[in-house]
Amino acid sequence: MENCIFCKIINQEIPSYKIFEDEKVYAFLDISQATKGHTLVVPKQHVTDIFEYDEDLAADVFARIPKIARALEQAFPEMEGLNILNNNKELAYQSVFHSHVHLVPRYSKKDDFSIHFGNHTDQRTPEEMQAIADKIKEQVK
Ligand code: AMP
Ligand code: ZN
Repeated sequence: MENCIFCKIINQEIPSYKIFEDEKVYAFLDISQATKGHTLVVPKQHVTDIFEYDEDLAADVFARIPKIARALEQAFPEMEGLNILNNNKELAYQSVFHSHVHLVPRYSKKDDFSIHFGNHTDQRTPEEMQAIADKIKEQVK
């Protein structure tokens, strides 16, 4: 797609620190390196976000992630964990609108990365929880 920075990277129109490429995905270092080895895995097909994936594309992308994760682990034996993240839409911190998966190696509790899930276990009744689950369930197609 025209004017898409990740399409341009895939097409070698702008440089990147490539890690892996095949017919389906392109993986390269995130320029901002939240931690050492922070990698983006990008489908070669331009899709904006997760809502545009079909099952085949999702399988193509996610099938390749474990071997890239293992490559990070082998490259950096001091790595103690890995966060895998996919941001969708601006509110959820998406800033490049060509879908991508972040692999963020973790080295210590004090590295420059955190995710905060609020704990609200006591704020919804079992009936509310069931209603939420039912509402979603009937939309899974
Ligand atoms: P997100 O905020 O989830 O959309 O992530 C977009 C990521 O793309 C950010 O972490 C940026 O640092 C990264 N990024 C933007 N431009 C480039 C580029 N030219 N090369 C590598 N990474 C980039
Ligand atoms: Zn694109």
